[in-house]
Amino acid sequence: MLATQLLEIEKCTQSKIDAVDFNNIPFGRTFSDHMLVAEYFDGQWQTAKIMPYGPIPLSPATSALHYGQAIFEGMKAHRTTDGRIAMFRPDKNIARFNKSAVRMSMPEVPEDIFMEGLLELIKLDIAWIPNKEGCSLYMRPLMFANEPCIGVKTSDRYMFIIMVGPVGPYYSEPVSVLVSEEYARAVKGGVGYAKTAGNYGRTLYPVELARKQGYKDILWLDGREQKYVEEIGTMNVFFVLDGKLITPSIDGTFLEGVTRESVIRIAQDLGYEVEQRKIDIAEIVAAHNNGLLEEMFGTGTAATVTHINRFGFRGEDYHLDLDKAVISKRIKEELEGIKSNAVPDRHGWLKFVE
Ligand SMILES: *Cc1c(COP(=O)(O)O)cnc(C)c1O
Repeated sequence: MLATQLLEIEKCTQSKIDAVDFNNIPFGRTFSDHMLVAEYFDGQWQTAKIMPYGPIPLSPATSALHYGQAIFEGMKAHRTTDGRIAMFRPDKNIARFNKSAVRMSMPEVPEDIFMEGLLELIKLDIAWIPNKEGCSLYMRPLMFANEPCIGVKTSDRYMFIIMVGPVGPYYSEPVSVLVSEEYARAVKGGVGYAKTAGNYGRTLYPVELARKQGYKDILWLDGREQKYVEEIGTMNVFFVLDGKLITPSIDGTFLEGVTRESVIRIAQDLGYEVEQRKIDIAEIVAAHNNGLLEEMFGTGTAATVTHINRFGFRGEDYHLDLDKAVISKRIKEELEGIKSNAVPDRHGWLKFVE
């Protein structure tokens, strides 16, 4: 297939951008003028189209709505300090998307269609990338089974979409979390490592209960023993214990964040020791009681590095002093510096849109 046949482009006739207040952008509610749509049927991907953003017709029998063959990604394009546009490690998101696809018995999206689609969308909707610090263009690729068939089986039709929209900071304040011993997000052998729709729907009720108790989100424990720390709603979790960073080791039950991996790398570059291992929640509580738990933070594309200022466990609240959060502040600065190209991009993480 020739590269030019990967994509057809239909531009919108009238931009909606003038109606957007860029000083007040709620997360995930504003979308740009265009989207990419590609369909999979007859055993192959059909030509991808970039078209005006808008509703898509769906049969009530659409298989994803019944059985949850649905996956997504979350990534960002942003302006760098030298006035260019860049994405942060998009190859990682593409690879993870396809890993999620395999686990959910869905076809992989060819990397060239995916990458070209991202680049073309950014170029078309470049005016939608906010100029303000901390703001960016959030890119949401998704795929779902759209065979109109209510039989429990692998669908033979899929729709791949990339939608994009301007966003401000996800959490502007430190976050409090409740350690849940009652509910589980994922189990070993399940789909915890996939960015698949069902992983999120199942958490909404427990998170609502946690909110009623005054917490922003849940710190999930493993689904088998409800003992080992896994992650927070949409963030991986790190602790600083006696000057050392610790984070759960990868075992397939939590999302392997691009930000997590980048933070580990940056921490090592800066000379900090990082341990990836099983972390018993009892160890964290004991460390807090002994004054050794210095910092706790979450990492994710939407949230970057977010400080945790309190966690609740078995009816007790454990507070973290943000004045002590020096290591996470340093790492956050470095990560944001690399993203904005103010700090040398020594690992080649930026993909510029020329
Ligand atoms: C997306 C996500 C993360 C963060 O991953 P990044 O690649 O860093 O954005 C962490 N946990 C969950 C459950 C997620 O969905």
